[in-house]
Amino acid sequence: MNFDPHETHALMDIAARPAQVFVAGRGSWLVDRAGRRYLDFVQGWAVNALGHCPPQIAQALAAQSQQLVSAGPGLFNAPAAALAARLAELSSLERVFLCSGGAEANEGAIKLARKWGQVQRGGAYEIVTFVDAFHGRTLATMSASGKPGWDVLFAPQVPGFPKARLNDLASVEAALTQQTVAVMLEPIQGEAGVNVADDDFLRALRRLCDERGLLLVFDEIQTGVGRTGLLFGAQHAGVRPDIMTLGKGLGGGVPLAAVLAREEVAAAFAHGDQGGTYCGNPLMAAVGSAVLQTVAAPVFLAGVRERGEYLSRRLSDLAATRGLPGERGRGLLRALNLGRPVAAQVAAAALALQPEGLLVNAPRPHLLRFMPALNVSFDEIDLMVDMLAEVLEQAG
Ligand SMILES: *Cc1c(COP(=O)(O)O)cnc(C)c1O
Repeated sequence: MNFDPHETHALMDIAARPAQVFVAGRGSWLVDRAGRRYLDFVQGWAVNALGHCPPQIAQALAAQSQQLVSAGPGLFNAPAAALAARLAELSSLERVFLCSGGAEANEGAIKLARKWGQVQRGGAYEIVTFVDAFHGRTLATMSASGKPGWDVLFAPQVPGFPKARLNDLASVEAALTQQTVAVMLEPIQGEAGVNVADDDFLRALRRLCDERGLLLVFDEIQTGVGRTGLLFGAQHAGVRPDIMTLGKGLGGGVPLAAVLAREEVAAAFAHGDQGGTYCGNPLMAAVGSAVLQTVAAPVFLAGVRERGEYLSRRLSDLAATRGLPGERGRGLLRALNLGRPVAAQVAAAALALQPEGLLVNAPRPHLLRFMPALNVSFDEIDLMVDMLAEVLEQAG
């Protein structure tokens, strides 16, 4: 194969990306076109729950692609029905809407909350969201997000998303008005740098929403499907939301997302209110069921917790050795505070490491984030920490 460094030029230039073009992946390893290998602790942005090209996904795609690829949104199909039933059983949220991406799921959750407000709450439509939140890149989900600068990017915003501060109940109460219909948040703010919502805060939000007749909406697109060591991130606090969104790990690498809701809430949608050409696509739904069959098993989730504790310990040791402020997170969603705004340079140096590269993410100037495959091996965790130590040593 001839390597042409210019061949990516037809792609819109929407992000700073390294020059490498990736051609293959297996487990925790990615391979570029030149045959160089990279230990992958980004995994498609916390997407490849079972690593690259797991047999479960290959088999589900192969089997379903010979059975039925698309029936269309106007007809029921068996894989969508089966995945919805399984998600309802696992979450105790009775109704499920399947779609293709996280932003689309959150857009659906926002629409459902607003429709419920029209039907049940006299037209209340405001959804309290949080500073530094990330809910996606559609206009409404960007407005719901609290990313600095996003309030003016693509202005005007979609109105109706007053902001509160994470772990600050008074700021939530202060944001409530007669028009409030819901409170929406990530159990852990992933893109903001792994900011964990306290269990007490989530429980207090549940009480507040119950008292005021508001919906509690959890965006579990990053924290769901085993990432934190329980199937859903809010289970650590023992809190059930009224609406929950899933994405990323649910498809294990294919475009699949979901909106889950209590029966009474989901009933607000009338025919025609919500839909989409690929919603409930059988090919993707079959993959979702295959992923859940592995990830939802208690023994698998216990393994995620063990790996998460091990990664946490190794990162803490590294921080202690190098005099860094420390690490945080839950399960296999973790961040290391470098104490200085060098995270982007460290991530670039990790990618360039010889003989094999390392992929880590720098969500904030001073933070590295780790979101490996949920079945990452202890040896791979050791190797990652060793490679990172080497990079930090070089960086001085
Ligand atoms: C990734 C992410 C989204 C957006 O998902 P897309 O599939 O990129 O649209 C929304 N919310 C959270 C918490 C995410 O991590």
